[in-house]
Amino acid sequence: MYVAAPVPLVDRFGRIHTDLRVSLTDRCNLRCAYCMPAEGLNWLARPEVLTDDEVVRLVRVATERLGITTVRLTGGEPLLRRGLPALVARLFALPASPVLSMTTNGIGLARTAVALREAGLSRVNVSLDTLRTDRFAEITRRDRLPDVLAGLRAARDAGLSPVKINAVPVRGVNDDEIVGLTAFAVEHGYRMRFIESMPLDAHGAWDRDRMVSAAEILDRLGEHYELVPVRRRDNAPAEEWRIAGTDAVVGVIASVTRPFCGGCDRVRLTADGQLRNCLFATEESDLRALLRGGADDEALEGAWRNCLAGKGPGHAIGSTEFRRPKRPMSAIGG
Ligand code: SAM
Ligand code: SF4
Repeated sequence: MYVAAPVPLVDRFGRIHTDLRVSLTDRCNLRCAYCMPAEGLNWLARPEVLTDDEVVRLVRVATERLGITTVRLTGGEPLLRRGLPALVARLFALPASPVLSMTTNGIGLARTAVALREAGLSRVNVSLDTLRTDRFAEITRRDRLPDVLAGLRAARDAGLSPVKINAVPVRGVNDDEIVGLTAFAVEHGYRMRFIESMPLDAHGAWDRDRMVSAAEILDRLGEHYELVPVRRRDNAPAEEWRIAGTDAVVGVIASVTRPFCGGCDRVRLTADGQLRNCLFATEESDLRALLRGGADDEALEGAWRNCLAGKGPGHAIGSTEFRRPKRPMSAIGG
């Protein structure tokens, strides 16, 4: 059994990586226009996807040997993964138990929130871009707004905390709801976060002019609320403000206009076992091949460190050097 203290996962810029994003599936039951085409994508075949045993093993190596302390489950839609509470319980029971969170579209959360909480999930981010039924159906191409709202309530009632709402404002689509979504979150005890849209959709439709920048989001919020800065970014991607006179906090993730690459502490594992040192990485390390080829923990640790050794300084969106990764966000794990 491995007993030594973990040696931090440091890259050549001195960034220490403690946060792991694990994609549990590339499939999804929504088709958000800024993420996927209406017809969906060529999903991974089942044998290509890491099994529960493989996910648990890689997270064990990451927490025991590499100093990973937080693990976020994502996708695709992680709630589509069969037996998710049992997998969460196994990750939580690891000797170096990580803090577990999940990013989800919320469909099915009403049914599973209590089981997930009991299994060891701490907190959850639920994506919600609009409060209007017709608009929800347009953006996601599915008529499921009530399921998402029920999922949010269930998450809060189950004691998942905080429950955050992630919204991606797109000009001319839902940018008129920045204040409305925030008011909804404040009223119901959720924490609102806006994310600048990124060139990571599967169909190459991203248009910088339709991205609503952090500065614009803050301007709109500033017209209705007095905002008090609560955190200037260290390595947390969200900059946060408290709404004066309340405990409510609103966050903005300015990945495009104010990149936080210099403080990045994240590493990502895709559903098919490819390790990525950046959301925008163009290369991956095939941990699944190592796992299935009989590699021992030391070899897995080595591959992980090699992958991080190749991490670049930042994503360079907007410069001529920028290259879109081959995988879209939904196949990486957002
Ligand atoms: N299906 C889950 C969900 O929607 O929360 C998890 C996966 S989804 C890819 C993770 C997050 O990425 C969501 O909050 C979603 O809004 C965001 N996202 C997807 N495509 C994006 C894009 N092109 N730019 C910015 N955020 C995006
Ligand atoms: Fe599915 Fe999430 Fe992409 Fe929407 S953003 S299509 S819910 S993976």
